[in-house]
Amino acid sequence: MSTYHAPLADMQFVLNELAGLAQVASLPGFEDATPDTVTAILEEASRFATEVLDPLNASGDREGSKLLADGTVRTPAGFKDAYRQFAENGWNGLTKPSAYGGQHLPQLVATPIEEMWHAANMAFDLCPLLTQGAIDAIELCGTPEQKTRFLPPMVSGAWTGTMNLTEPQAGSDLAAVRTRAVPQQDGTYKLYGQKIFITFGEHDFTDNIVHLVLARTPTAPEGVKGISLFLVPKFIVNDDGSLGARNDVHCVSLEHKLGIHASPTAVLAYGDNGGATGYLIGEENRGLEYMFVMMNQARFSVGMEGVGLSERAYQRAVAYARDRVQGKAPGMEKTAKAGPIIDHPDIRRMLMTMRASTEAMRAVGYVTAAALDNARHAADAAARAEHQAFADLMIPIVKGWCTETAQDVTSLGVQVHGGMGYIEETGAAQHYRDARIITIYEGTTGIQANDLIGRKTARDAGATAGKVAAQIDKVAAHLASQDDASLNAIGLRLAAATASLQSAIEWVVKTYATNARVAHAGSVPYLKLWGLCAGGWQLGRAARIAAEKLRAGEGDASFMRAKIATAQFYAESLLPQAEALAQSVVSGSATVLALSADQF
Ligand SMILES: Cc1cc2nc3c(=O)[nH]c(=O)nc-3n(C[C@H](O)[C@H](O)[C@H](O)COP(=O)(O)OP(=O)(O)OC[C@H]3O[C@@H](n4cnc5c(N)ncnc54)[C@H](O)[C@@H]3O)c2cc1C
Repeated sequence: MSTYHAPLADMQFVLNELAGLAQVASLPGFEDATPDTVTAILEEASRFATEVLDPLNASGDREGSKLLADGTVRTPAGFKDAYRQFAENGWNGLTKPSAYGGQHLPQLVATPIEEMWHAANMAFDLCPLLTQGAIDAIELCGTPEQKTRFLPPMVSGAWTGTMNLTEPQAGSDLAAVRTRAVPQQDGTYKLYGQKIFITFGEHDFTDNIVHLVLARTPTAPEGVKGISLFLVPKFIVNDDGSLGARNDVHCVSLEHKLGIHASPTAVLAYGDNGGATGYLIGEENRGLEYMFVMMNQARFSVGMEGVGLSERAYQRAVAYARDRVQGKAPGMEKTAKAGPIIDHPDIRRMLMTMRASTEAMRAVGYVTAAALDNARHAADAAARAEHQAFADLMIPIVKGWCTETAQDVTSLGVQVHGGMGYIEETGAAQHYRDARIITIYEGTTGIQANDLIGRKTARDAGATAGKVAAQIDKVAAHLASQDDASLNAIGLRLAAATASLQSAIEWVVKTYATNARVAHAGSVPYLKLWGLCAGGWQLGRAARIAAEKLRAGEGDASFMRAKIATAQFYAESLLPQAEALAQSVVSGSATVLALSADQF
């Protein structure tokens, strides 16, 4: 079994050279994010990922979380202790305000750390991930009293949080939520209903769990405009902060899943014994609006799960390919003996695809994280708006493309292992199974693609999309004008891919206005096209910077050469798919709808 090691060299390169850590650290409030501090934090996180989380990944998968007869949940051996260490080391509150005990670090700094947790043990990290979302919701729209009471223990990790959206009839369509919230004389509400698929809805990590629940009040209008957000603690919190009575929310079962077995996915029953006490967050009927503000963050984090899982699958595949001896690779000397499969060109193709895709996703993710920081903290309002527009465009791409690409990368991870990849002991199969959920929760790829074509492309008539495509084109033109053969090749391929992207943007804007149904039929290939080109853009920038560093004799020459070669592979072997994806959007969308429903 291989051990996970955080790819610190690439993480640092992307942070500093592509995402502009120095600029982000110059934003008001982020002065502590100096290069030395960030390096120290990343090294410490890397140690925690390697030594504490990674060793529990396979055992957690085998053992799974269990619902006990008394309605409590036992997480796999070692998980509770790992969580205690996680919280004690302060990893839970990295980006959270210092007023509540957090460290107020930039999202950009937290992103590689999140990537490490996902890579080492995604099932474990789902608990902190969901807690972050709940903290953000309370911070964004809670009352001062709610913030004082709930945020410090949630930021420290003493209590965890959940997000309760889904019900049996309400998945992608949250307008169908039926859980009821009945106002009480004392200003609280009683909640009744059932939520399904609730990640870490019950567990043994902490004494209390803070559920954030979407529900309807009796007078609420139909549809999405009638949904409110409630805070429902597992134990009622007394005025002095101590835990009081057990609330009427209970785990009635855990789902049996394809992957992430260590993460308890709970069915929660609210109000079976008289009503669960809940507190309104913000105003009635604005629950979905609040959720959407937070969703950017949660969707971004799930995109980073794709990066982490891909990196883990890649590292495992490389280790196996170095070790497994099988035949003599083509082109080797006649006298050569059977060697490791890493010598086979087709294994190299798979490893290069895994590596280039992962590096491209990482770069797109971190650049988006920097935009999120600038959108919140840049001094100038116009700059904030510009970064927000870029981040808004990129969020469905990071979520949709990184998670879809992780399906291919983890599948290649299995393939590199041959038959052993299909056998659980190698661990490759677990990454493949774990990855399968990430294109589904926090909005399926179809939902991300709807967002990308509608709100993010058509709504401003392609203005933001066109602007970003023009930026990619500029990088491509610069690269294509270089004497260096590698940079030149990357530039030419990137220019061709960008032309395909531009034709697809034009088509989406035109078609969405006249035939939205056909536009939606092309939405997922459009999303993939965007991801592919954004990846090529960032790897193109990386290659240019690596070439400059090589010329100047700066940095690790072997790393820089590998960066250029990886970018060139991406440009020559993966970017040509852009034309096919654009064709599928522009020419293929109408026939997606060619059959009537009863012809299937
Ligand atoms: C392991 C796991 C953990 C989860 N954790 C949580 C959690 O913590 N909290 C929570 O609230 N929920 C959670 N969920 C629920 C998850 O968010 C939903 O499963 C997801 O949103 C999809 O909803 P659905 O399963 O009802 O599928 P459906 O909405 O029924 O979708 C089925 C198919 O139809 C497509 N589709 C539906 N509507 C559209 C549309 N408008 N446009 C295009 N395609 C569409 C979908 O893309 C999908 O392919 C979890 C689910 C799982 C499996």
